[in-house]
Amino acid sequence: NDNMKIILATHNTNKISEIKSHLKETKIEVISLLDLKDYEEIIEDGHTFLENAIIKAKAIAKKYNTLTLADDSGLEVSALNNEPGIYSSRYSGKGDYQNNLKLLDNLKGITNRDARFVCCLALVEPNSSINSFEGVLEGTIAKEVITEQGFGYDPVFIPNGYNTTLDLLGSNIKNTISHRANALNKFVDFIKK
Ligand code: IMP
Repeated sequence: NDNMKIILATHNTNKISEIKSHLKETKIEVISLLDLKDYEEIIEDGHTFLENAIIKAKAIAKKYNTLTLADDSGLEVSALNNEPGIYSSRYSGKGDYQNNLKLLDNLKGITNRDARFVCCLALVEPNSSINSFEGVLEGTIAKEVITEQGFGYDPVFIPNGYNTTLDLLGSNIKNTISHRANALNKFVDFIKK
């Protein structure tokens, strides 16, 4: 299985760089929708991370007749009935920083700050066979936004066993412990077989 080419069905630059960096020691060549300059919208109307990952991977695998991987991910907060969940990217409707402010506002006065990041990867072959890989990162939500920039909820998420946010821990640590890294490890094990 040398030099296997896969399309990564996303435009998200953070997902693309984390996934490319994780796979750089493998023989998997990753081509994103940005590399392909494909900006056609895919309607994600699934009800779970898995459904949405499959919707994206299927659409692109079919369009390019190529093995395709899609990442659907988000944050689940225990005290908020696991919201924002699949609505993580659209929580405030005004981008990542406002999403973080809305989250802290909704958790004001709540002592249970438990949360987890979930990443669901769907791998779809041109013949439409599907495999999926899930990864989770458990942690808690900080009391304030410490950094204004950073991917998604990284500026407010403190992984269990660490004393600062995922954003400040930096990409080396993040890419070792993250939900996405855990899901990618399962994906790589699968590809090797
Ligand atoms: P999707 O692109 O529909 O899968 O939505 C993903 C959203 O979940 C992102 O826009 C972020 O809000 C959140 N998210 C997923 N993974 C991460 C991460 O690694 N760090 C921070 N936020 C994340």
